[in-house]
Amino acid sequence: MARWILAVPTSPRLMPKAEIVCPGFVDNHVHVLGGGGGLGFASRAPELQTSQLVRGGITSVIGMLGFDATTKDMASLVAKTKAFVQDGISAYCITGATLEHPIPTLTGRIRTDIAFVDEIIGVGEISISELGYGYDSFGEGAQYIAKAAVEGLLAGRLAGKSGYLCLQVPPYLSEVLKPIFEVLDKTGIPITQFLPSHVNQTDEYMSDAINWGNRNGYVDIGANYSPENNFSRSTLPSKAYGILREGGVPANRITMSSDGNGAPPKEEAGEKSPVVANYMPVRSLHRVWKRWVRDEGVSIEDALAPVTSNPAAIAGLSRKGRIAVGGDADLLILNEDLEIDTVIARGQPHFRSGAMVRTGMFDATIRDEMGTAQHVVGG
Ligand SMILES: [Zn+2]
Repeated sequence: MARWILAVPTSPRLMPKAEIVCPGFVDNHVHVLGGGGGLGFASRAPELQTSQLVRGGITSVIGMLGFDATTKDMASLVAKTKAFVQDGISAYCITGATLEHPIPTLTGRIRTDIAFVDEIIGVGEISISELGYGYDSFGEGAQYIAKAAVEGLLAGRLAGKSGYLCLQVPPYLSEVLKPIFEVLDKTGIPITQFLPSHVNQTDEYMSDAINWGNRNGYVDIGANYSPENNFSRSTLPSKAYGILREGGVPANRITMSSDGNGAPPKEEAGEKSPVVANYMPVRSLHRVWKRWVRDEGVSIEDALAPVTSNPAAIAGLSRKGRIAVGGDADLLILNEDLEIDTVIARGQPHFRSGAMVRTGMFDATIRDEMGTAQHVVGG
């Protein structure tokens, strides 16, 4: 595991301070076009800017549509993915939307999306329930998931991609992951074809996730699913890693993502009219990762796998998530407090000593407009 981390002394005049070189983070679940929309049109979150990812140490992002595939579509998602690449980081996306069975695609089929569109590497995020988030399945939801997973699996084999499926699970009632255990038992679809998202959302989901991991499946911790962010029944993401490991989930089967730039309404049992949008910043990935190391005693090497090599593995990104000959030069330099000092993406510095050195086309404009623009009344 030593290849993941390289503790190097800084220049002699700064000795004995040590810095840490590690792979850039791979965030496998980001609503790059902006999630939200569940609290009216004004609750549609804005598009993510490249610098937001870079400041969070994320050099590879996997984007997806979310709840709102009415006003946002796959063409925009693929375009946004290309934009990140043009800005110098690495970006991919998956096909589909959370609450639609069948899911929307770019080319009309899951298979052709994955086979022919370079950026599209898998399927999701899809709710198991045909009724959507917050409701157990009333019928054919799990069957549709099985069909979509096979589409991804077969197209992935054709195109040399992962073709994995990102699952959303109704976490508040009784079923949680159980319909997909049944799919596994009845069909023989490899468990590694699925990535259940934000398993720390409820105790019931954590319990099913431990069973899932013990069958060698991947499980994903949501860095923003925390009582601190209105998910009152969630397990703190800083604690979730240890609980999964103690439950027997293998270290190479745990990923963590931000579900970043999403903004779901606060949804609790019995709450009929949520008014709070739980905006989920991508920078939480690094924030929780630091807590694993500082507060929970996880070694830096062990803590790195869920945000680097493990998400790269399930997504089939062989050049990502580790420092290796032939890999892409996506690197972070962390100071001794584990704060991000430098971000290098595809060999080019983007962030150094706390400041952006390369930004997207509109980053500065947006910052200036939001920060200094004055209302001009009457010209
Ligand atoms: Zn999501």
